Amino acid sequence: MARPDLFERIRSLRDARIAQNRLRVRRTVTRRDGITLDIDGHRYANFSGNDYLGLAQQFEIIDALQDGTAREGVGATASPLICGYDISHENLEREVAEWIGYPRGLLFGSGFMANLAVQQALLTEENDVCVQDRLNHASLIDATHLAGCRLRRYPHLDAEGAIRQLKGTPGGAAILATDGVFSMDGDIAPLQALSLAAKVQQALLYVDDAHGVGVLGPDGRGSVAAAGLGPAEVPLLLVPLSKALGSYGAVVLGSEALINHLIETSRPYAYSSALPPALATAALTAVRSARRDEWRRERLKELIGVFREECQRYGIEPLMSDTPIQPLLCGSETEAVALSAAMEREGYLTAAIRPPTVPEGTSRIRITLSALHAPQQVQRMVTVLARCREELPKH
Ligand SMILES: *Cc1c(COP(=O)(O)O)cnc(C)c1O
Repeated sequence: MARPDLFERIRSLRDARIAQNRLRVRRTVTRRDGITLDIDGHRYANFSGNDYLGLAQQFEIIDALQDGTAREGVGATASPLICGYDISHENLEREVAEWIGYPRGLLFGSGFMANLAVQQALLTEENDVCVQDRLNHASLIDATHLAGCRLRRYPHLDAEGAIRQLKGTPGGAAILATDGVFSMDGDIAPLQALSLAAKVQQALLYVDDAHGVGVLGPDGRGSVAAAGLGPAEVPLLLVPLSKALGSYGAVVLGSEALINHLIETSRPYAYSSALPPALATAALTAVRSARRDEWRRERLKELIGVFREECQRYGIEPLMSDTPIQPLLCGSETEAVALSAAMEREGYLTAAIRPPTVPEGTSRIRITLSALHAPQQVQRMVTVLARCREELPKH
């Protein structure tokens, strides 16, 4: 029998995406100045990035990157197990672990890689299982496929559902994995209930805190610390450096034994070059700023309050969220794209998020706040949002 033609396949898949208003395109940013971006000759106030604390262009961090590069060059020249592991990597791992309150840290090239690494290294048997919140990040889902073990998903935020899935999959070792703060919804996992579920069902609780670290908890230690938990309840914690820390890479936190196991067996760790050392130096500076600058978190709280108050004034109902991620459901792809485009014409970047990133029928615009926004700017943005919504053609 003839094989399917791959070119024919991708053409028809693309046609289908166009018909569903799901085409994705990149836009080239030609200038970045804090939360102001230039794209295609237009200037925008950015309400779509993940630079929650406003650290991506902070001068101390840029200085650290420049100094580090002057001293150590750019590339690490090798994977960490050969000769790529640098004193700057070691310092970053130690300080992130100390900040969040864990024994050890291990730096990966990215959060996506770290998630792949953790499950592949720990869930080695076919009847092992990873039980996950239905809205977990794609990298956590892909990680289970890569590990080749069983994947079970429970309804969003439903700790009882997690227990049911764990009970229904006896025999193998289990990881219970959840985002700390959900990236497209902005809500927070019920970590205390999940930690009890994991304990009762002898599963290891793994929290991916990409959107919680720096933002939530005492000294910005994230969603686990905010829930009053630590390594005893959450033995493995992922701290991506690419969101609130404005940098790049990710640190997995855990016990001596778990981290050693990852160093010795994880394939994404062994077979990928170490991060540029200067980048680790920059990230370390970002960690120190995030710990120190309580005003950035206070500013965020204020902005979240302003945003939600203004929304209420105009009868706009964003999803329930106490975090800088403030999504507004639109229902159809067409409506989300139209609203995002209308906002753009007014000079605001608010990203339309569509399936498969979010479930069918829950297209939205995802508005994010940053400590760099001014309260008046958030107010104005909501005023414009209300008007753009009014003016949308009704379907
Ligand atoms: C962004 C993100 C990741 C991936 O992190 P990168 O360092 O950008 O690869 C993982 N998990 C969650 C929840 C994220 O939002």
